[in-house]
Amino acid sequence: MMIVMNIESIREKGNAMTAIPSVLITGASTGIGASYAERFARRGHDLVLVARDTARMEALAARLRQENGVAIDIVQADLTQPAELATVETRLRDDARIGILVNNAGTAIGGSFIEQSTDDVARLVALNTTALLRLASAIAPRLAAAGEGAIVNIGSVVGLAPEFGMTVYGATKAFVLFLSQGLSLELAPKGVYVQAVLPATTRTEIWGHVGADVNTLSNVMEVGDLVDAALVGFDRRELVTIPPLPDAGQWDALQAARQAMLPNYGNQHPAERYRTVA
Ligand code: NAP
Repeated sequence: MMIVMNIESIREKGNAMTAIPSVLITGASTGIGASYAERFARRGHDLVLVARDTARMEALAARLRQENGVAIDIVQADLTQPAELATVETRLRDDARIGILVNNAGTAIGGSFIEQSTDDVARLVALNTTALLRLASAIAPRLAAAGEGAIVNIGSVVGLAPEFGMTVYGATKAFVLFLSQGLSLELAPKGVYVQAVLPATTRTEIWGHVGADVNTLSNVMEVGDLVDAALVGFDRRELVTIPPLPDAGQWDALQAARQAMLPNYGNQHPAERYRTVA
């Protein structure tokens, strides 16, 4: 009896998260998200596409269904609107076929901090951080219980570089990196893979949103190249994937320098340099 029950529970788990899990991709109507949709469809994954522009997602889905024979659902949602975001959260909580979340939807705004309106920066933070966080929070407990699955968070090298002059955007991407690293520490032991992908300049429409013509920029990566590289990192179960960075040792050195400081934070007294006046 015991054995039968165990087999049944394995079967149920197998049915819930099939050998090829469905992938929910936010910001799938264009750019990096649409490219992820194309690549995962080619790999035989069913998809759930999320964005605001249904017509674009319908066109993409029709082509990918025809080319790859996969099932594709479309969810129209403005992820800055709590009620619409909640529908996606519910889908992630309840749909046991979804085993991979690609948290890609994001945007950028132009101008310096004092030129950007308070409402605009708050909307940027809502999309790039709050929505991403809520979606990860919606799916993570289910994946952890299943002991498998993946969360891919799209950050940016700007999150490592205040010098690039996109302060609020970079701050949201620093959040994405930290969140991913922390979640990886928590979830990897439970069988859930978390990847942060940090693109640099990539040819998508995002540049139009900041008032830049991408054709005037140098060293622009094509979106397919970016996603193919990110998927190499995904297949290797890399924690942080920076497709344009030639020397991975530089990233490792940065992590080593950061980690070397960790034992030095636990001190009862302020450091000597703060104990002398002037
Ligand atoms: P994109 O071409 O502008 O695409 C952004 C996607 O997000 C679109 O599908 C858009 O669809 C969706 N989106 C925007 N606002 C939304 C909202 N309020 N609710 C739901 N979906 C929304 O930009 P991308 O370059 O592919 O960007 C994808 C991710 O890569 C972003 O997180 C971005 O920060 C990151 N990234 C991009 C670059 C780059 O150079 N391109 C570099 C580093 C990081 P709808 O308009 O249909 O809603």
